[in-house]
Amino acid sequence: MEIQKIAEEIANKIGEEKVSTEKFHRMTYSRDWSPRDAKETILPDLVVVPSTTEEVAEVVKIAHKHRIPVVPFAGGTGMGGGVSPVRGGITIDTKGLNKILEIDEKNLTVTTQTGVTVLNLNRELEKHGLWWPHDPESKPSSTVGAAVSCDNDSTFGIKYGKLVDHLLNAVIVTGTGEIVRLGHRKALCTSTGYKLHWLLIGAEGTLGIVTEVTLKVFPKPETRAVEAAVFKSISEAIGALQRLLTAGLSVESAHINCKKRLGFYTHAYREKYGREPEIPDWAEALLFVSFNGDEEVVRFSHQYALRILQESGGLKVKEQEIIDGWWTSKHTLKFEPYKQKWPDSQRTKKFGAADLGIPIGRIEEAYQKFLQIAEKNQIEVLGMCVYNERPNRVSPSISFAVFVDDSNPDEVRRFYKYVEEMSKMAVDLGGTMSTYIGDGDRLGGFNRYEHGEALNYMKKIKEVFDPENIMNPGKKFESRWIKPEK
Ligand SMILES: Cc1cc2nc3c(=O)[nH]c(=O)nc-3n(C[C@H](O)[C@H](O)[C@H](O)COP(=O)(O)OP(=O)(O)OC[C@H]3O[C@@H](n4cnc5c(N)ncnc54)[C@H](O)[C@@H]3O)c2cc1C
Repeated sequence: MEIQKIAEEIANKIGEEKVSTEKFHRMTYSRDWSPRDAKETILPDLVVVPSTTEEVAEVVKIAHKHRIPVVPFAGGTGMGGGVSPVRGGITIDTKGLNKILEIDEKNLTVTTQTGVTVLNLNRELEKHGLWWPHDPESKPSSTVGAAVSCDNDSTFGIKYGKLVDHLLNAVIVTGTGEIVRLGHRKALCTSTGYKLHWLLIGAEGTLGIVTEVTLKVFPKPETRAVEAAVFKSISEAIGALQRLLTAGLSVESAHINCKKRLGFYTHAYREKYGREPEIPDWAEALLFVSFNGDEEVVRFSHQYALRILQESGGLKVKEQEIIDGWWTSKHTLKFEPYKQKWPDSQRTKKFGAADLGIPIGRIEEAYQKFLQIAEKNQIEVLGMCVYNERPNRVSPSISFAVFVDDSNPDEVRRFYKYVEEMSKMAVDLGGTMSTYIGDGDRLGGFNRYEHGEALNYMKKIKEVFDPENIMNPGKKFESRWIKPEK
């Protein structure tokens, strides 16, 4: 059926002001932040901006009837090509779903439509003394629905956990246009049924559109302290972090940077303040750590931590500006990317990453392989940062970041080859191919290497939610860049 006719059919259901076939509009929905040559972007045929679950269901029912792909689009900051309409079809801009439905102070939950940005959700929660401790740098644009759908990580995972620790229930519009609530209302734990709401975490729109979620939230802590120390090795920095946790300190976030990334901080310091920071040449790793809670607890944690860091071989970073630079770059809108963290090359190239989960004892090994794989594929290394995602433990989600000139098609292809080799390396080391970006249109050609026969069961699960394979096709089970393996 002609796309104009389908647009009219949808407009009759949800209003013509919410439907567009204009090329100008469609272009803005053609890609996300992942490296790709502009010539290779694909436009959706139609864009719709529904504002209720029922309107989303009307659109999907029509798509299902005509067997047309449906791609959910949120802030477009994804790094795995998740919003790319690889088979054209209807892009649903979920930002029309922008209402916060309930802030329940007594039960410490929030129920919201999923197109609300992470920043706006936290602004509203703050008025009630509450906080959703999910804080990606992309928060001004990225939405709650995308955080769930990509299983994102957040700076505060080491205290508060990941989405699996926060998501209590969700409403989904499936691939047939049915509206289904999954989860266990506001209960924080359950042993009934299957935990189907958790299937939505990291589903990237392939099972349906998540239109509403209830999340666990937390009282906003009184204060925080931020600290940094350098170490002779990455393993030493990991050991120090382990000690901070074992001691029972109130650690809320911890990032371990490799020497390359440390170099960006010192470079930015030199550029901005015109002096040399007192970082010794032997420094191979930089640990940033922050503590939160009541004033007295934070003060104690901070002082005690300084002792542990020193006993573990760390040297405190003296330049407060470097510490503030990290915090500012992660959490505020005052971020001046080139001044605080990134070198000049970031102006022309964008950063791309392999986001791997590596077992703690094999991180040094993974780092060496990272340098080799990047060199082999002629990709410029940006550096490694170890984030920590699960409460009270060293729980590595590692960004192996590189620079990619995405006006160069050959470099873009080499980048995806780099991602493939890095991903397989993670599996060989006993880890996983992705910890916050997701499969997108990157990993599908080779993720049987990680999942084996389980991939067949995943396909069957998708069929239950989406029998016609219209929900974000071309993702998770296929790659645009790498041919499938037998
Ligand atoms: C500067 C920068 C900093 C970043 N920092 C972080 C970080 O700290 N931590 C981190 O984990 N990531 C980070 N990211 C990656 C990115 O921001 C996240 O993956 C984020 O979740 C994407 O959100 P978005 O709203 O832009 O989603 P989009 O890119 O629009 O969509 C992402 C995926 O989710 C699907 N989707 C979106 N909404 C729904 C829905 N309602 N139902 C079903 N599927 C849906 C889309 O189809 C797509 O597959 C960063 C990216 C950038 C550019």
